[in-house]
Amino acid sequence: MKDRKSSFSRYIRQIILPKFGQEAQEKLQRVKVLVVGVGGLGSVVSLYLACSGIGYIGLVDPDTVELSNLQRQILHSEEHIGMLKVVSGMINLKRLNSDLRVLIYPEEINNSNVLDIIKPYDIVVACPDNFKTRFILNDVCLQMGKPFVIGAVSEFEGHVFSVLSPNGPCYRCLFNEAKDENLQRGIFAPVVGVIGAIQASETLKLILNIGDFLYGRMLIYDAFQESFREVRFKRDSSCKLCK
Ligand SMILES: [Zn+2]
Repeated sequence: MKDRKSSFSRYIRQIILPKFGQEAQEKLQRVKVLVVGVGGLGSVVSLYLACSGIGYIGLVDPDTVELSNLQRQILHSEEHIGMLKVVSGMINLKRLNSDLRVLIYPEEINNSNVLDIIKPYDIVVACPDNFKTRFILNDVCLQMGKPFVIGAVSEFEGHVFSVLSPNGPCYRCLFNEAKDENLQRGIFAPVVGVIGAIQASETLKLILNIGDFLYGRMLIYDAFQESFREVRFKRDSSCKLCK
């Protein structure tokens, strides 16, 4: 554990930001963030959270590191092939910031474990590679009133938004419960970096309640056209989740 003085110099370029300061830095150190999915997006999100001085990060993922992951999953490395992603992630995040406490869950989120896993955390960042997990997280976060930041990527495109209130709008207001396609799609690595970085930005700002959020608006990044667009959306009156 570093002393207060070295902690101050470590984060000085963040502390001097407008709306930040020492108090904000100390708040980040007290906060617990759950990152679900330690693939491409989860790599970027957890690296930015770790270097920003988040105190506790929970990592959830049942998979092991494969060679084909390394094209875009920047938290992992060749030496960790075959290792659980949550373990590989924990090792590399602690290498980056030894003050960070990491809790690992080498399992898939499902209806029976989701409550226990989410409970201790202040905010949930959804980075899974499937719809099913996003719907489970959406429903439970909404019920528990936990802020929830969602990102997804496919080929040259990605999107990101947050669900912040039990009143919605939520993930279900925007997406129908679709069956996951078995089809494996390509992923352009920098899209993962952009969307993951926006998820991290959204998370840090939500913790500190500064700036604007992607609430009721989905930001879409198209790397092929090199453009951003925004889709504003409201609560779907037929959504069973939103009150
Ligand atoms: Zn809804």
